[in-house]
Amino acid sequence: MKVPYLSFRLMHDQIKSATLNAFEQFYDSQQYVSGSLVNKFEIEYAVFNQVNHAVAVSNGLDALFLSLKALGIKAGDEVIIPSNTYIATALAVSHLGAVPVLVEPDIRTYNLDPNQISRAITKKTKAMIPVHLYGQSCEMNTIMEIANQHGLHVVEDNAQAHGATFKDKKTGSFGILNATSFYPGKNLGALGEAGCITTNNEQLAGIVSKLRNYGSSEKYYNELLGHNMRMDELQAAILSIKLHEINAWTTARQKNAALYLKLLSDLPQIILPVVATDATHVFHIFAIRTTQRNSLQAHLTENGIGTMIHYPVPIHLQKAYQHLHFNKNDFLIAELIADTTLSLPCWPGMQDSEIEFVANQIKLFFLKHV
Ligand SMILES: *Cc1c(COP(=O)(O)O)cnc(C)c1O
Repeated sequence: MKVPYLSFRLMHDQIKSATLNAFEQFYDSQQYVSGSLVNKFEIEYAVFNQVNHAVAVSNGLDALFLSLKALGIKAGDEVIIPSNTYIATALAVSHLGAVPVLVEPDIRTYNLDPNQISRAITKKTKAMIPVHLYGQSCEMNTIMEIANQHGLHVVEDNAQAHGATFKDKKTGSFGILNATSFYPGKNLGALGEAGCITTNNEQLAGIVSKLRNYGSSEKYYNELLGHNMRMDELQAAILSIKLHEINAWTTARQKNAALYLKLLSDLPQIILPVVATDATHVFHIFAIRTTQRNSLQAHLTENGIGTMIHYPVPIHLQKAYQHLHFNKNDFLIAELIADTTLSLPCWPGMQDSEIEFVANQIKLFFLKHV
């Protein structure tokens, strides 16, 4: 048996005829950017995400960047982000000349630890970006309270958590502006690059909507120094189709996770994902941890099982951030996660027998390596 880390097989079989129909309509429409399909998807995604406005953009990094830019984040400002996130969260801050301030996560949930935030706040702090890592919501109520006490903006990075909730409220609806990604491998993925900003603030929705479109809302009249960071019509058409399936696909991921949790619960050598009180987890990534990560990964590869490491190098040890002069041991929790985490296949459409195969191979490995 072979189990790839991610397969679109079942998902894309389900929507193939609808997608090919949509492609034909798109092709015949002769309207390839800035047509009605992006608008239609924005309205649908706003409803899904329980917000008043969704502004479709080119990708997740641009969604983060435009959100921070619209909030006036500029050179010298500080923005708090988790020490164990994907590089995009940090880059969005850096591209505005602002400084990403790293805060260690809670080692149980891998999400921003509210107890660590206050001590990172300085006079220069303007915003924070909680990342719903691996698909689990951060403790949004506490995070919003801390932000309000200190007058900080919250921009959620919801790239991994479409449909997750905290106390029944969707991630991507707490912050003033929130960013998500529809990169193909995300839970809601386009067939190319795409992303979105979600907000309840009409004025800021207007600003990001102009910023993504050359600073313009009327062609050839430019009010702001904008960018070309639009979503194209084809991606919007495909995302509208996939949005109908996202809840079922999330349930499928959660069922996979539940089966892994059951099958792996008696292995003392591995740490399984934990879902915090009041949070839900949409299992974009099913990450386990073990001190024998590298040899376990090699064993699974040899046996036809694809895995990934999210992420092998924490931001403070990336070459791109050497100008911030971080050292090894500066963020011990981020380093511990980087050294021990392993992501198992968890895609919608996996058969129980495939999950059992992965779990059995993990058990076999630990029988040999006690
Ligand atoms: C994927 C991802 C992004 C960036 O999204 P792109 O569409 O690839 O630019 C940002 N943050 C997190 C946490 C991500 O996983």
